[in-house]
Amino acid sequence: MSPVFEVRNLSRHYSIRRGFLGGRDVLKALDGVSFVLGKGQTLAVVGESGCGKTTLAKQVALVDPPTEGHLFLGGEDVALTSDPASPRRKIQIVFQNALEALSPRQTVGASIAEPLAINTTLSRPERRERAQAMMVRVGPQPEHYGRYPHMFSGGQRQRIAIARALMLRPLVVVADEPVSALDLSVQAQILNLLMDLRDEFALSYVFISHDLGVVRHIADDVMVMYAGRAVEQGTAYTVLSAPRHPYTRALLEATPRADRPRRRERPPLVGEVPSIPPPGCAFHTRCPYVDNVCRRQRPEPRVFEGREAAACHHLEKVG
Ligand code: SF4
Repeated sequence: MSPVFEVRNLSRHYSIRRGFLGGRDVLKALDGVSFVLGKGQTLAVVGESGCGKTTLAKQVALVDPPTEGHLFLGGEDVALTSDPASPRRKIQIVFQNALEALSPRQTVGASIAEPLAINTTLSRPERRERAQAMMVRVGPQPEHYGRYPHMFSGGQRQRIAIARALMLRPLVVVADEPVSALDLSVQAQILNLLMDLRDEFALSYVFISHDLGVVRHIADDVMVMYAGRAVEQGTAYTVLSAPRHPYTRALLEATPRADRPRRRERPPLVGEVPSIPPPGCAFHTRCPYVDNVCRRQRPEPRVFEGREAAACHHLEKVG
């Protein structure tokens, strides 16, 4: 599958104050993340709250400019350009909470049509016609064009946000926890809609989620993040069925599966993702396999037994 989107060494650093004594530190919220996305493919980015996945979503969608790195879309680097004619509008984002993303004072029809008003020379009737055509496909019903966001359910509002994101016919959609605020039955409907739209519009998704059950449903590839870095990457099948990294294993262990009785083989994951990563392996404060090497040296991603990248010194020991 030919790559449509390549993210190379993407980083986002923030300068933060160091205690009362002054001075400043650099917080690496995102630190050298890379991946390649094929046409029609879904990459799921997983990890706990604070692992850096939402920062990644904002950098990839150019909501917030990266500190460094490259975003190649159709061969052009769109990361640092301010050229309005660049293909950056071919990357769109859908947020977790559509109510916050949509203007309460704007009708849903106007919201859906707005990207056309900003980026095209189409007349108002033409924009309305296209928005209503998208509503027929995605929802809500086109006769609800003049209603306001608060008049819809959470699932319907997420449909409105998705319709709006598709108006400029993007190549890549970043979906940041798009179903996690919805009821289970509605989650399934939105996931199925996203998969149908992916096929219909040849979309590629960067799908951010903390829910491995959802990821199992939709992803081709999976990237596991911890403290701003990718600690394991590969196909969804290999990462989810035979995880290598101790963090991936702990995440999976903590995820209930309806098709299998809960059987704890390793100690549960305790503690939280550190806001400032410690030296060495960032996971060493929570890892059952930690030793002095882990505390001193940061592990780089490596291939182990022919498998793709996992950043751990002791893959042999972990087994
Ligand atoms: Fe655990 Fe060490 Fe591997 Fe980090 S490098 S995940 S601390 S075994």
